Amino acid sequence: MDWWVSQPKIELHAHLNGSIRNSTLLELARGLGQKMNAVSADIEHVIMKGDRSLPECFRMFDLIHICTTDHGTVTRITKEVVEDFAAENTVYLELRTTPKKNETIGMTKRSYMEAVIDGLKAVEAVEVLFIPSDERTESSKESPLMNDSSKTKKGNQIYVRLLLSIDRRESTDGAMETAQLALEMRKLGVVGIDLSGNPVVGNWLTFLPALNWAREQGLSVTLHCGEVPNPEEVEAMLEFHPQRIGHACFLNEKHWKVLKSSNIPVEICLTSNVRTDSVSSIDYHHFVDLYHAKHPLVLCTDDPGVFSTSLSREYKIAASTFGLGRGEMFQLAEDAIQFAFAEDRVKQDLKKTFTSVRGELS
Ligand code: 5GP
Repeated sequence: MDWWVSQPKIELHAHLNGSIRNSTLLELARGLGQKMNAVSADIEHVIMKGDRSLPECFRMFDLIHICTTDHGTVTRITKEVVEDFAAENTVYLELRTTPKKNETIGMTKRSYMEAVIDGLKAVEAVEVLFIPSDERTESSKESPLMNDSSKTKKGNQIYVRLLLSIDRRESTDGAMETAQLALEMRKLGVVGIDLSGNPVVGNWLTFLPALNWAREQGLSVTLHCGEVPNPEEVEAMLEFHPQRIGHACFLNEKHWKVLKSSNIPVEICLTSNVRTDSVSSIDYHHFVDLYHAKHPLVLCTDDPGVFSTSLSREYKIAASTFGLGRGEMFQLAEDAIQFAFAEDRVKQDLKKTFTSVRGELS
């Protein structure tokens, strides 16, 4: 097995619906097409397209959501996404998703998230550890399927934690509802809040009350920051000082200085940035500068389904493009443990995993 697949990895920036398998999306689109021909043709055309600009990606997400936003499908794709990450030796997955409402099918933000939890429980290929350590005994009693290792091979496990995304199309009330739901679902492995969605839509001040409130409640916050040129917003986001930021493509000299002195970890999404033309070329990606400055960073996929990538592939690309060796890539993955939003016990356990694999390699 290639080292980029076999080495343990940490994923901190993956959107659930952006991680859907192409085969599942096509199957769902075709199923829908039997009811609504035009929509299916539209979706198939978009799915089969290779490169997409950032605006095209958001049109693609709207189409994906037409196919996926029902409880059973949300459960299915959650199960598949976790299995896919586990299959390439992701040992910790922080999966983010936007809780959605759809009154016509009785979906509330809470029932959407319950469908996600059902997906975590449905995974059979690997043991999924998603209940925080201090909740585990009680919750396991309530639901014997949670963290039930009896049906899986020993040692074959993945930690999963969830982030609830606030979509930039949402109102202050909508954002607050998501933050409150995140707090209520902490016992089920929700560890924080993400701000995402089309970066040219919405205003930072709309989301700030919910983000401040979430932070006061002890939830961690990560922000999509600098995906398009918007210096005022980047400045405000850095001033907010989230626990992590994603992308950071359009930062000016002043922003870089603030970022570097703040030590806020950056979630790097190489393929996503290249495919959406958010960087001029991978050779000039800000990964290089941040890596050499020893700034905290983590390699992530963003949307492995939409961008036809995987976490292993991102490691392979970084190694070959930036001339990094296997040892350096291993260290990069191990260093990412400290940026996870999970509790310390999980981080200690992950460190042990990395230490034992390192021992086997040497
Ligand atoms: P979901 O939250 O529905 O599980 O995952 C898809 C959603 O994540 C998209 O509709 C969008 O709101 C968000 N998303 C996925 N990729 C990106 C990205 O690259 N940038 C931003 N800003 N949002 C994204």
